Amino acid sequence: MHFLRKGLGLVGRRGFATLTSSTKRAKAKKTLWTLGGLGGVAGLTYYLLRDEAYVADFQDAHAHVPQLAIHPVEGGAKGLPIVTHQIDDDVERETNIKKPRLVVVGGGWGAVSVLKNIDKDKYNITLISDNNYFLFTPLLPSATVGTLEMRSLLEPLRKIALRAGAHFLEARAVDIDLENNLVEVQSHGSDGHEGKSFYVPYDRVILAVGSTSITHGVDGIEHTHRLKTIRDAMDVRRKVTSNVEKAVLPTTSPEERKRLLSFVVCGGGPTGVEFAAELYDWMNEDLVKWFPKLLREDISVTIIQSRDHILNTFDVQISEYAERRFSRAKIDVVTNARVSRIEPDKVIYKLTNTDPPVFKEVPYGLCMWSTGIAMTPFAERLAEKLGTQVHKRCIKTDEYLRVKGIPDGSVFAIGDCATIENPRVLEHIMDIFHKADKAHNGLLTFEEFCTAVHDIRTRFPLTEQHLGEMMELFNTYDKDKNGRLDLEEMRIMLHDIDQKMTHLPATAQVASQQGAYLGKTLSQLADSRPDKCIAPFKYNYLGTLAYLGNTAVGEFNWGMHMVGGLWAMYLWRSVYWSQQVSARQRVNLSIDWTKRALFGRDLSTI
Ligand code: FAD
Repeated sequence: MHFLRKGLGLVGRRGFATLTSSTKRAKAKKTLWTLGGLGGVAGLTYYLLRDEAYVADFQDAHAHVPQLAIHPVEGGAKGLPIVTHQIDDDVERETNIKKPRLVVVGGGWGAVSVLKNIDKDKYNITLISDNNYFLFTPLLPSATVGTLEMRSLLEPLRKIALRAGAHFLEARAVDIDLENNLVEVQSHGSDGHEGKSFYVPYDRVILAVGSTSITHGVDGIEHTHRLKTIRDAMDVRRKVTSNVEKAVLPTTSPEERKRLLSFVVCGGGPTGVEFAAELYDWMNEDLVKWFPKLLREDISVTIIQSRDHILNTFDVQISEYAERRFSRAKIDVVTNARVSRIEPDKVIYKLTNTDPPVFKEVPYGLCMWSTGIAMTPFAERLAEKLGTQVHKRCIKTDEYLRVKGIPDGSVFAIGDCATIENPRVLEHIMDIFHKADKAHNGLLTFEEFCTAVHDIRTRFPLTEQHLGEMMELFNTYDKDKNGRLDLEEMRIMLHDIDQKMTHLPATAQVASQQGAYLGKTLSQLADSRPDKCIAPFKYNYLGTLAYLGNTAVGEFNWGMHMVGGLWAMYLWRSVYWSQQVSARQRVNLSIDWTKRALFGRDLSTI
């Protein structure tokens, strides 16, 4: 009452204008309440209707189950059952069976990108993956210390497949019968029983099986952890937490505590560096807060890198920034060092820039192995079978992503498991030169040079991005400035082009661009074989990013470099947030980052 009286008094003193504005405020408040109420009622109605729809769908689904009979016939090189129909080839999808069969093996960046870009009306698509989820690998290091939850990085492949009208089989492809166009697949075993093998027939097959870690023949690799799968991240998280908890126990000696808290990363590429950065964040933000102070003194992170810089695929300015930042953070970066042996509790490495080489050792509680990629057993089997494949780490393809050595062009390979074989243009110099040298005088005029370049472009499409503007190219290689190009000058030009054609990196960016290319190209070619009228795959480098612990570094295709700063971390997050494959993943990421900012990381592991 006191407040009411005071309020009325105010009204009296301030007069009519005050009364009007307070009436307006009251009206606005009422409108807001009304709108809020209406919103609430609408929301509730929506949920009720949705639930009702679920029940109706459920009843509907049970009302009729139109399904074709499945009669696997036996055949192929091993006489296994051949899947002619799939269990979800129901009556509505019967037309599907008549379409060309496209089999996609793998469930990562390459495979998902194919599914997102393929015209689902053109093919009867089957996706085969040994996991039933797509993993957003670039954020995997963040899951190792609980910055992000594991589930936030996963999207069910079944949902992705169904959106593309594809069948999904969670099983492992073990071999490929090239004579009969059959992929040999094995289901996962359970309850002590082995999985069953069967064939999935294809008209075209895309292999996107990714890679495994390379071992370089180092002894003791089995003592290390990797970071390729969600299970790897779970193991690492469990190990990090359990080591820290063990270090706190009164029975742990100071030496043992130091060893338990020593984290060694073998490999200074983006994955190793990002893992070290996540550990650093975790130490500074959570460890110091929740664990005894002494641990901070005993903890150590060491990166062992064989080259003279970490992040050596980035510009040197970025590598040096990363090294300076890590040295301030007391992360020990050992460069020019090769791991020679790994024992259960220590890593032995050799410094390569000393003569004679010096051997050193570092004890560890967790050792992360992240030194590069190698072929999966499936890819290896195919490469062996083809014989022509001499590349040690990947299956070789041509510029249309068709696997080399398969004449009918029905097998494609993309992503980490594949590499496009670069042509050696220099080997064709005599042919190119003599064809263009119309006057037969051993010299090319500018016009003749243009003919030669056109010939190179047509025969070797991958050279396109290294040829550039014609006059500029001519002037660059006309070394004696006589307005003609002789054979030696042409040789230097072709040699330079060959040098520039490096292999594409094993990144999500390459895999997803290749997947998009194949998805679109195969949609166009549903009724014919890929041939000359189709443009070859062209990689469009957009840039690279790496997380460095509450900041990030990056380089972009337009030449800009991003070196540190808080804004860099927000840009890094925004890029990966926008690249998520579903809205659900985006919501999960936003929640995880907010939770971490408000409450810190979750320290429990199960
Ligand atoms: P993957 O994505 O590895 O997918 C392969 C799939 O095939 C998997 O689902 C696997 O289960 C399945 N498979 C394998 N064998 C079989 C089989 N026999 N039968 C059925 N299924 C099979 N790249 C970037 O561009 N930016 C980054 O920041 C970045 N960060 C990374 C961080 C980490 C920790 C890692 C490990 C990689 C990172 N990469 C990054 C690299 C990127 O993840 C890979 O280049 C990319 O995943 C390759 O895509 P892919 O489709 O070839 O293979």
